[in-house]
Amino acid sequence: MDLREKKRAVVLGLGAFGGGVGVTRWLAGQGLDVVVVDQLPAEKLQRSIAGIADLAAAGRVRLDLGRDDLPPCGPGDLVVINPAVRTPWLRTDITAARNSGAWVTTEIELTVRAVAHRIGEQADLVAITGSMGKSTTTAMIGAGLKATGRRAWIGGNLGGSLLGQVGEMDPASAVVLEISSAMLWWLEACEVFRPRVGVVTNCAPNHVDWHGTLQGYQRCKQILPMRVRAGGTAVLGENVGNWSITDGARRVVVSGAQRMPGLATPGRHNEMNAACALAACVALGCDAAGALSGIAAFPGLPHRLQFVGTARGARWYNDSKATTPEATVLAVRALREAGMDRIHLIAGGYDKKVSLAAITALAGELASLAGIGATGEAVCASRGQVCGTLDRAVEWIGPRVRQGDAVLLSPGCASWDQFANFEERGQRFADLAREAAR
Ligand code: ADP
Repeated sequence: MDLREKKRAVVLGLGAFGGGVGVTRWLAGQGLDVVVVDQLPAEKLQRSIAGIADLAAAGRVRLDLGRDDLPPCGPGDLVVINPAVRTPWLRTDITAARNSGAWVTTEIELTVRAVAHRIGEQADLVAITGSMGKSTTTAMIGAGLKATGRRAWIGGNLGGSLLGQVGEMDPASAVVLEISSAMLWWLEACEVFRPRVGVVTNCAPNHVDWHGTLQGYQRCKQILPMRVRAGGTAVLGENVGNWSITDGARRVVVSGAQRMPGLATPGRHNEMNAACALAACVALGCDAAGALSGIAAFPGLPHRLQFVGTARGARWYNDSKATTPEATVLAVRALREAGMDRIHLIAGGYDKKVSLAAITALAGELASLAGIGATGEAVCASRGQVCGTLDRAVEWIGPRVRQGDAVLLSPGCASWDQFANFEERGQRFADLAREAAR
């Protein structure tokens, strides 16, 4: 990857997940002048802008906000497109940039190239995609590898950017990247993208807005097992078990019937994710028992049915990210599948004016239901206690909890009536769980 001929970088899409900030910082560090273009105004990008404020103040980065097209480009430009930019092949500005001789790429391609340059093309690169479970499986692979003493770098679509850390990687490092279908579209043209292990958890209709058609979406997912290097391993969930893989690669199909007892993350879907993660770790040469211990102890991604501790004999789960009633129903089902029969649910929040019937219908099968926030009363329409705040809900549930129960925050509603965001709500719940344990 030779950036010497490039003078300017244009980043299209700063975004909110850290990839845009990471690549902007890295490009500035390579000595390029960086222009950041984003369709959103500054007030909607505050957190990301704070991440590059020092570079902007030093004149190394210029912000061009409130516009969504590229400036005129030329051969001296490196153009980095955010993977959230839809149907890029239809965009005349991107085509014009390419035709002008600019190098049009993405943060993930720069990362893959930087890793190949640093560790060599035989790097232990693991790439994970799928319609559901990508982030969880990626994080589980990281947990499994670390439990066996491997150095592992986790990134990609999971958030943030690994570009700034490539210099610390060595040949013993494993690089584990969650890859979205959009990233796969971009990586198709990147010849050094040859992971040793490629995982596809499953495939279901999704993201037609980005790909234009369902076929386009599925075709992008199918790129991954075809890019696993010969001698490597394609780990495929059973609903994609017959997808084509590279000649000379090994195929491991993970059956949904496979039980994975003892996981900290509840639910059948997490057993599937864990089985995929274990297969990936084993394919990298890890000791299976060691990897499994790390995967089993993985508490879940923050705020997504995350195990936050044991208090009063009950297991406490933070599912603050569940902002639709359907997500709440899934969470309750997952705990049941993990053998927890007595569930105390805290639900309710900002009123999006959607039906909460799916939550009220759960009331009869719960050990208790505490309603909070603007929709607290609606949530408790058939049964339950309107508690108002999260603190009072935990206080009310406390004496009702028995050994072996589960206490679940899965609001089924957004958080904005009482909290700045779902993270703050989940953090408060985790703090209350810790206090209850004292
Ligand atoms: P992704 O990164 O693909 O969006 P996550 O790991 O963040 O997936 O999980 C998001 C949600 O998708 C979870 O809260 C759960 O409801 C659901 N999910 C996770 N894994 C699976 C799976 N293997 N099969 C079906 N649904 C899943």
